[in-house]
Amino acid sequence: MSQSTLHEAEYYEILNQEDVSIQCHLCPFDCIINQGEKGKCLARKNVDGKLYSLNYGFMDLKIDMIEKQQVFHFFPNSRAQTFSTYNCNLDCDYCSMPEKAHLDPETYTGKKFAPDQAIMFGMASGSKIISFGEAEPFISFEWVRDTAKLAKERGLKVLVRTNGYFHEQPVSEMLEYVDAVTIDIKNVNDEGYEQSCGGGSFEHIKKIVKIVFDSGKLLELHMVIHEDLNNDVEAARKLAEWIKEELSVEVPLHLSRLIPSHRTKNFIPTSKELLESSYAAAKETGIQYVYIDGIPDHDTLNTYCPNCNELLISRTSYATEVRRISLQGNCNKCQTKINVVLS
Ligand code: SF4
Repeated sequence: MSQSTLHEAEYYEILNQEDVSIQCHLCPFDCIINQGEKGKCLARKNVDGKLYSLNYGFMDLKIDMIEKQQVFHFFPNSRAQTFSTYNCNLDCDYCSMPEKAHLDPETYTGKKFAPDQAIMFGMASGSKIISFGEAEPFISFEWVRDTAKLAKERGLKVLVRTNGYFHEQPVSEMLEYVDAVTIDIKNVNDEGYEQSCGGGSFEHIKKIVKIVFDSGKLLELHMVIHEDLNNDVEAARKLAEWIKEELSVEVPLHLSRLIPSHRTKNFIPTSKELLESSYAAAKETGIQYVYIDGIPDHDTLNTYCPNCNELLISRTSYATEVRRISLQGNCNKCQTKINVVLS
């Protein structure tokens, strides 16, 4: 890859002018990167004392229903143009796309998209929503930020799905250009992050979740439930209690079934019983919107009014129907305001 095709990264400092060592400050790994080397995510490289984003413009495109992004309160039953980026800073045992998450960008042979090309595709599809996800959009920070900014200028809505393990400043910068964020919580303690994802910190991610919540953007949280990850009923309860105390009972929480993959290929998928017990524990805390992802046509895929229990949005594996809710987001039966973005 020639230097002229590289895109200079942001959020780094030069540590030593003589040996041109650099420290990246995009995420809390704060990698020290020597001349010619890359950081832990493989996507940021020190070339002669400058840090470059190697994966600027790398992505796969698809159009999908927004529910496929596992977001339920942001334009339900809409199509979203999804930009699926490369590389990740975490290394989770159950990663569903390890080849993509840990690709060496210098071996990438796919097409690169400039932000305006990506937006052109998005607008041509007729979709009014742009979604960034898979593997970890913040590792493509500069490209995602540039593209999201352009999307906003063109009147599109922007969703980002992230693991949340990034420094406050880049997250705050990105929030200027997004309308909704979903964050995948990997565990409710730092040891769990270390064991299952090779690093990361629940304590740090809580701060990021709070920043997103305080920004007023729509926020949804996810956690994979499985005994062998120590993500069980008590973990679901603990997370829900934290949501209630530090955020709001209106923040949706998705409890997802583990689909065996990568280093969990030999695991048994999470049982329906464990998911239902975890769901019950989360609901007991008083949070209003809890969903079980991964069990087709389960009742908990639906959104009910937290006041009168009216069925507001029904979901099956194949279809979503927005039923008894106004465009302003009020329950048609009792007028309770629902935390949902419809227009
Ligand atoms: S973004 Fe990559 S290079 Fe930068 S600190 Fe995180 S893992 Fe290291």
